[in-house]
Amino acid sequence: MSNLEMAPASILKVEHIHKRFTSKNICVRAVTDVSFEVKAGETIGIVGESGCGKTTLGRCIVRAIHASEGKVLYRAEDGQIDDLITVDKERMKKIRKEIQMIFQDPYSSLDPRMTVTDIISEPLKANYPKMPKADREKLVVDIAAKVGLNTSYLKRYPHAFSGGQRQRIGIARALILNPRIIVCDEAVSALDVSIQAQIINLLKDLQRDMHLTYLFISHDLSVVEHISNRVGVMYLGRMVEYAPTEALFSKPLHPYTEALLSAVPVADPDVQMDRIPLKGEIPNPANPPSGCYFHERCRYCQQKCIDEAPALREVDGRSVACHFADELTLRGFHYES
Ligand code: SF4
Repeated sequence: MSNLEMAPASILKVEHIHKRFTSKNICVRAVTDVSFEVKAGETIGIVGESGCGKTTLGRCIVRAIHASEGKVLYRAEDGQIDDLITVDKERMKKIRKEIQMIFQDPYSSLDPRMTVTDIISEPLKANYPKMPKADREKLVVDIAAKVGLNTSYLKRYPHAFSGGQRQRIGIARALILNPRIIVCDEAVSALDVSIQAQIINLLKDLQRDMHLTYLFISHDLSVVEHISNRVGVMYLGRMVEYAPTEALFSKPLHPYTEALLSAVPVADPDVQMDRIPLKGEIPNPANPPSGCYFHERCRYCQQKCIDEAPALREVDGRSVACHFADELTLRGFHYES
């Protein structure tokens, strides 16, 4: 147990996680050497373009898929610290109640043949098979009310609900076991902007009331900014910057973060967007570029970037993987005056 250590305030510690997929002698490195620590009650945003490995990372953390290497330390409610990558099935069954997921698509993540009551109560049936039906249904009504669902519609099927209401059903299902950590995988991406705001506010309220910790995976930086305490930026399976939200938005240290921030829409018609174009496409993770994986698209690239991979290192109390992080002056988002 001695190597299972984390800061007293932490609930989760991801250490050197790798995930490789191999098929027909081709190895795709979906996640490479990602590490970060999460304090209880905070929200960590994980951002990056589609295909950057953020969803794979989330799935490794909840053990929906097995990581190839690394540790995911979790401090359970009983105080014990386990490595979720190696913990035995019996212990994992207990821990799984404490770590839940909310998925991207509220249309496809709910079984259309089940009523809302059945969908929300499914985790209860699986984990507490002897619980009387009346008790189960009372818990469903309580949690449905908590997430803002009309409790008189619980015998209906998902198709009778709008996208925002369906996502509330997904949230209720994730909350019914009274978890401590929720991994939200693009949880608001399929929703209209106004509904997104409602769901984000709901998640914040639930976090406060139920002392939840979120891992919020999204390609949308403006959403992540509103909910996260700290943000990790991923590129081609690697964490390239990890910083407190305000610091990252006001003064990014990695050129990829700068480019992502330049593409965030500003809700002011008088503000001119000055987007930094990213050259080309994300490289093939089965055949990544030499040196810094971002060098083919980076406007600050120098020979060192082509020859040598930058390690994730501390600069200004933050983590960044760029050879020139302490020399470049990069443009932030709207915190700039
Ligand atoms: Fe750009 Fe070089 Fe920094 Fe990579 S190491 S982000 S290529 S400046």
